[in-house]
Amino acid sequence: MSKMSRDGAVLLSNRLFGHPEAVELRPSAFAGWVRALCWAGKYMREHDWLIPDSATRMFFNKRDIASLLEIGWLVEAEGGYRPPMQDRRGRDLWRPGPRPAAELRRKKIPHRVRALIYERDGGACVTCGSTDRLTLDHIKPFSHGGSDEPDNLQTMCLPCNSRKGARV
Ligand SMILES: [Zn+2]
Repeated sequence: MSKMSRDGAVLLSNRLFGHPEAVELRPSAFAGWVRALCWAGKYMREHDWLIPDSATRMFFNKRDIASLLEIGWLVEAEGGYRPPMQDRRGRDLWRPGPRPAAELRRKKIPHRVRALIYERDGGACVTCGSTDRLTLDHIKPFSHGGSDEPDNLQTMCLPCNSRKGARV
């Protein structure tokens, strides 16, 4: 539960961590914390939710870190910070989620391959002919074993690609 107070601070009643007192955080600290957790959960599972020192400057300034440490929403760890792993009664707060889909872990298709496909397909969606919001589509989806080779790729606009994605 959170809401904006009149002066712009975010007031939180922190039920997540099982302590009921509302704490006041600057919006930058709160927003940074949320962003850091999303980031940590997505990329840092193998590292036990560590937010490395090198990454903290993406999310926090020193003052934010100090206030988050003070209320226990961040804890210092070897090489960086972590969200607390347990609430005050020692119950686990986080469980590792499923691993990211292969779709998300794959390597990006190089620019020259993209350019090649767009040129081959006349710079237009192969389904509807649109030249707007073009993407590369895997004819056989990557998640079904389709390759990143040009013969498995085609130019498709985002709306057509989303419709196709919904059918797969
Ligand atoms: Zn289209």
